[in-house]
Amino acid sequence: MMGFFNKKTEEPKKEETQEEPVETPPSVDVAKQSLNELVLQSIHEGVIIVGPEGNIHLANPAACLLMGRSDDEILDVYYDSVITLLDKTGNRISEARNPIGQALKNQDFKEETRDLDIVAADSNRNTPVSIIITKSAGDKPVLIVTFRDIAQELREEHERTDFISTASHEMRTPVASIEGYLGLALNPSTATLDDRARQYLEKAHENSKHLGRLFQDLLDTTKLDDGQIVPHPEPVEIVDLVKRIADAQIPKIKEKGLGYQFGSGAVDQQLSGGKHIEQVIYANVDSDFLTEILNNLIENAIKYTPAGWVTVNVRADNYNVQIVVQDTGIGIAREELNHVFQKFYRVDNRDTREIGGTGLGLYLVKQRVEAMNGRIWAESQLGNGTRFIVLFPRISQEQYDQQRFLIDNQEAQSGMH
Ligand code: ADP
Repeated sequence: MMGFFNKKTEEPKKEETQEEPVETPPSVDVAKQSLNELVLQSIHEGVIIVGPEGNIHLANPAACLLMGRSDDEILDVYYDSVITLLDKTGNRISEARNPIGQALKNQDFKEETRDLDIVAADSNRNTPVSIIITKSAGDKPVLIVTFRDIAQELREEHERTDFISTASHEMRTPVASIEGYLGLALNPSTATLDDRARQYLEKAHENSKHLGRLFQDLLDTTKLDDGQIVPHPEPVEIVDLVKRIADAQIPKIKEKGLGYQFGSGAVDQQLSGGKHIEQVIYANVDSDFLTEILNNLIENAIKYTPAGWVTVNVRADNYNVQIVVQDTGIGIAREELNHVFQKFYRVDNRDTREIGGTGLGLYLVKQRVEAMNGRIWAESQLGNGTRFIVLFPRISQEQYDQQRFLIDNQEAQSGMH
């Protein structure tokens, strides 16, 4: 390893000689290496290299500054004892949630994490950072970890979401009033209209309703972005929770004339290698967030299924829980699948044109899933229905019991004060 920031490296001693020094041009390799060093030394991003055993092999000055430690303190030290990362609630994250730890353990790791702060040991200064991890190839890969200060970026994002949130809030009230008056005008017991006026007002009424939904969806998406709401994951038995949330949508499903099925513990070849999975599955989720997520997915399944079935399934392997919302509807073309989670993205074709929507639902769903350390993706074929799969890390019965015990104890104690 290069170790050029290791101050312990001694300067080469000059030979004591009477002869005139002869200048030799540096070799190309040396020149290249010193250029690399110069780049690493001068960039604003903090860069560290973590070996497969978890020790830091290299740290550039920007990384040392963010950690508030000299490179002497960092080099050859286990990463978790010198890098302190906090989540948005100000709590130090466990090694299991640490993106560097996850990457070391070969677990699925996010290439970029933007919701953590790094703490400088010398001043206790917190800096929000984007952490990008790249793994080198080979048997014993090293991690190249980049920390970028995103304080300014977050401030600007916050100003933007604040503006959208205030604007949507302010516009919601007059729009609700327009919608109300148009409703009154269209009500035969409160107003008399000729046919043409009724047609025009019906259009206006429909659009005012759409505008109202748009402002509501915008408000909901900004709430998480600007920290008005924060997820509070708690250990739950997920099959029962998902069933309760999904069952509450049965009236809407029946109203459209669709069939409904709920399943759990199904034998799933892909996930369990054919084993039967027990019915009791635990995970850490915020139940309000999960309700919003599933309501959105089920409402979409209803909306985009002219006839057929809506199915909700919970299944698990040893590590993860998957919640699957599936329909037999119009489907999504392969090239659209990755885009449907983007803000305001709506598939525009003959089948979808008549169906109302804002294009914000799936953005909101993804935002909430990721805020709880989950992942979401869609599988579909045009004309052949769609599956949305939401994945959360699974916790064991023991972890559930332990965590529940701690939470119940805390609640009991705070109730006594
Ligand atoms: P919208 O308000 O338009 O429904 P979403 O963000 O919820 O917005 O969804 C984005 C787009 O993804 C939709 O416009 C639709 O084209 C497509 N989509 C979402 N869910 C389904 C589904 N279950 N079946 C088919 N298409 C879907």
